[in-house]
Amino acid sequence: MSRITRAVDVAIVGGGLVGMAVAAGLADAARAVGATVALVDASAWPPAEGGRRESVRDQAEEAYRPESVRTSSITPAARDFLNSDAVDVWRRVPIERRTPFRTMKVYGRRRHPVMRFEGRDRVWSDEDDPPLGWIVENTSLLQAMRERLLTSTDDERAGVQRLVGQVQQLDWDASTGWPLLHIARDASTPAARVERVAARLVVAADGGRSSVRRLADLSWYTQPYHQEAVVAVVHTRQPHDTAWQRFLSTGPLAVLPMGGRGQCSNIVWSTTPDEAHWLVQEASEAAFLHEVNRALHAEDAERLQVEAPAPPSSDWPEATELVAPRTPPTRAHFPLHLGHAPRYYRNHVVLVGDAAHVVHPLAGQGVNLGLADAESLCRRVTAAWHSGRDVGEEALLAAYQTERLPQNALMLASLHGIRSWFAWRLAEDTPLAQAADAVRSLGMQAATHWTPLRRLFVQMATGGK
Ligand SMILES: Cc1cc2nc3c(=O)[nH]c(=O)nc-3n(C[C@H](O)[C@H](O)[C@H](O)COP(=O)(O)OP(=O)(O)OC[C@H]3O[C@@H](n4cnc5c(N)ncnc54)[C@H](O)[C@@H]3O)c2cc1C
Repeated sequence: MSRITRAVDVAIVGGGLVGMAVAAGLADAARAVGATVALVDASAWPPAEGGRRESVRDQAEEAYRPESVRTSSITPAARDFLNSDAVDVWRRVPIERRTPFRTMKVYGRRRHPVMRFEGRDRVWSDEDDPPLGWIVENTSLLQAMRERLLTSTDDERAGVQRLVGQVQQLDWDASTGWPLLHIARDASTPAARVERVAARLVVAADGGRSSVRRLADLSWYTQPYHQEAVVAVVHTRQPHDTAWQRFLSTGPLAVLPMGGRGQCSNIVWSTTPDEAHWLVQEASEAAFLHEVNRALHAEDAERLQVEAPAPPSSDWPEATELVAPRTPPTRAHFPLHLGHAPRYYRNHVVLVGDAAHVVHPLAGQGVNLGLADAESLCRRVTAAWHSGRDVGEEALLAAYQTERLPQNALMLASLHGIRSWFAWRLAEDTPLAQAADAVRSLGMQAATHWTPLRRLFVQMATGGK
């Protein structure tokens, strides 16, 4: 059964980090002008998050235990958006679940960093001892966003309405031109099995495999990386505030501080699908740790025989003990691909986050780009509401695309280039390969020792804040 059950000003499809940020960014403005926003997601919010404002605070009182293996590195620019009066989410993330990192060291095959960045390279920041960014557990950020939205859903007539259901179809109302979402609701209530929601503007925040993008006939360029990202939480011997990254021939391996003071670390290891499968599905915890340490200290023991076996440099984090997170699994793997939509809007439908662009996780930029999309779109929708303009109008969406598409494309191309640069290898173990490797390392070292270039890298990586 299909009927129009509600008409809203903005329907956001997808309650991931980006869709939730758009909802939070619009909630107060919608209430102020009497506009309605619907947030549609296939999954219901966990019942434990039933709205006690202090629920997030309670966790802060407990000893730190990681909640999940998925984290995001949040840039200062994204933090500023999450901390803005409109979004008001950052202060709700417990301090031990957002861990600052002040140094970033990038290694190739050799034992000296080819690139090293410091928080103090953010010379434009007025913070004392500025971090380069924060490692935040995704579940904690989502929880903070839910808590924020629960404070803005008490008025049924305005603000954010939550709909649990899956968008299955999209068409356009002939008289208004508005998109009509066909949403499959909870199958246990047959009368409401399919609901049709009309919206002036549909925001597609439904991830890299976006159904809304496909249904709106927006094209998508994609390329598989033939790599999977393995994620895990480990203990390190010492607490630390450094983001380490080592580029191996199979892909980058990052060790990122967690737990507020860096007493744990998040591993993000991009590697071949076969190795990822073995590391996650087959390796014992001891074997997994052994592989992490081996990969950190020597990519290829035989090849590095001249320099190794060397005691682990004090520079390197030593993965010594796997933490058993509260929610299994302790390790997971995700296939990686690149994706970009050449156009971000069509007929009152606009793309944000991974629905618009998917990047390699090597520099932790995916959510940050999505939050920058959210900031740009919320700013324009709020301004349109205040001036009485239609939020679905072409000029607004074109201005959003003009701002965001070139910046996303630049980051996408840069990350693709960095990945290819490090993956590039001449024939194994020839003098020419070794010479090329040395030249490449020296080139990168020289580049990042040159202060203006180093600051330019930092400016890009931190969102310019
Ligand atoms: C291993 C790994 C590490 C990463 N690390 C970082 C990092 O450190 N920093 C960073 O910035 N980025 C990182 N990223 C990228 C980041 O995770 C993504 O960019 C981000 O999660 C995208 O958020 P999103 O809200 O756009 O999409 P998603 O998180 O994919 O959310 C989409 C939502 O839409 C819902 N949905 C889907 N289809 C429908 C439908 N038909 N109807 C209703 N709802 C639907 C889903 O239920 C989901 O809730 C990493 C990615 C990977 C794989």
